[in-house]
Amino acid sequence: MNSINKEKIDLKNFTRDDLTDFVRDHGLSPYRAKQIFSWLYRPGITDFSQMTDLGKKLRKSLDDQAFFSSLTTRVREQSKDGTIKYGFLLDDGNMIESVLIPDGERNTLCVSSQVGCAMGCLFCLTATMGFIRNLTPAEIVNQVCAVRDDLLQRRLGTINNLVFMGMGEPLANFANLLSALKILMDQLGLNFSERRTTVSTCGLVPGIKELGEKIKVNLALSLHAVNDDIRGQLMPVNKTWNIAALLDACRQYPLPRRKRIMIEYILLRDINDSEKDAKQLAELMRGIRCKINLLPCNETPDLPYRQPSAEKIACFQQILLDSGYTVIVRSSRGSDISAACGQLSVSKEP
Ligand code: SAH
Repeated sequence: MNSINKEKIDLKNFTRDDLTDFVRDHGLSPYRAKQIFSWLYRPGITDFSQMTDLGKKLRKSLDDQAFFSSLTTRVREQSKDGTIKYGFLLDDGNMIESVLIPDGERNTLCVSSQVGCAMGCLFCLTATMGFIRNLTPAEIVNQVCAVRDDLLQRRLGTINNLVFMGMGEPLANFANLLSALKILMDQLGLNFSERRTTVSTCGLVPGIKELGEKIKVNLALSLHAVNDDIRGQLMPVNKTWNIAALLDACRQYPLPRRKRIMIEYILLRDINDSEKDAKQLAELMRGIRCKINLLPCNETPDLPYRQPSAEKIACFQQILLDSGYTVIVRSSRGSDISAACGQLSVSKEP
């Protein structure tokens, strides 16, 4: 990005309402906001001069005060299983990652919300980076734009689902997440429906409540343990909001129609993988509309956690199935290119 842009306003940080305020402040009719907004998210638009239904004078005046950003793709790596990891360079030299997970006809994009993460979960590689900074709404939305354009160009289809399961804790970057969601879910923006958009959290209870009040999206909860003792050891956040408070927030969360909360449970050998744990999990989830995803821990040489045996995983799953839950064991995707859950970690460009 050139230095002139530093003084200009990035229109991609604006929801449609924000943009309406912006054009009004500049003495324009609110109708212009709708026009401009709908151009910003079309593939191939990089310049105000392409916005052909705006007069020349207006385009010039926009160009004097504003710009709209995009991300530079630095890495595009494809796994044996089809998963594609994108590494994007930010203006300040930081890097972030997004992961595209094809599944049959459907493509799910896993989006990052922060550079690094402050939550400090012991099993997660992103946590080892520490917290660097929040992503702006534009940086969040532009991950989706960049991957969409790449798929379009290669005729690989479209993005069907968005999950905020990349780097960072989305609810710790609440205001920017909310703006990004509004843009992503706006019909004139990226047009993702509430049913195709999922925010995952390690358990920031006030954030869960606020999310439910402000926008309708699916919720995923990284639970990972069935008692406060173990959860507190694995996830420092549990010392602030314990399991009871968390499940209360889940019970009250206003889900999209016919949707269920996605409970994420990493299976860590000899830590949370016993029959007793499975039975307690079944007990704990009673009365909560949910489906359970078991994630055999992705191993990395940098962390001491290991997967349980296949037998142990199957036994854990069976106990939950017998209790009437929908349970899938999520096979690890993209692990050969370090794109799997909890493996996202990048260093700054020199
Ligand atoms: N901070 C949010 C969003 C990140 S989602 C959250 O915690 O939900 C990333 C998912 O990958 C989370 O469910 C996380 O717990 C999981 N994860 C982290 N490390 C992992 C590992 N080593 N193996 C499997 N899953 C892991």
